[in-house]
Amino acid sequence: MGMTQAVCFKCGESKRAALSACGACKSLPSTRNELMLSVMLTEGYLGASRLAFFARGMSIGRRFAIPSSDRAKLRDLVAGEAVAAQPKDEPLNPGVGY
Ligand SMILES: [Zn+2]
Repeated sequence: MGMTQAVCFKCGESKRAALSACGACKSLPSTRNELMLSVMLTEGYLGASRLAFFARGMSIGRRFAIPSSDRAKLRDLVAGEAVAAQPKDEPLNPGVGY
């Protein structure tokens, strides 16, 4: 197993990039809340040990909400990630309003 870079916002399975589709449950973050949660659930944002804690919790069915103190920062990060992650010839994920 390599280092976990990010985990699925829905099932907690590890994946390589925050906004990629989950290999386990096929979930692709599309709403703004899902995108923000996905960006939060990365090693870059939480750090390795907190990310592992979240992943373990999610694997046994716990659900985590975005702390209100983190919402503005995550919204900005999602705006940057969405621009960087999307190929130019494909539309942006629907439901992302900014
Ligand atoms: Zn998943």
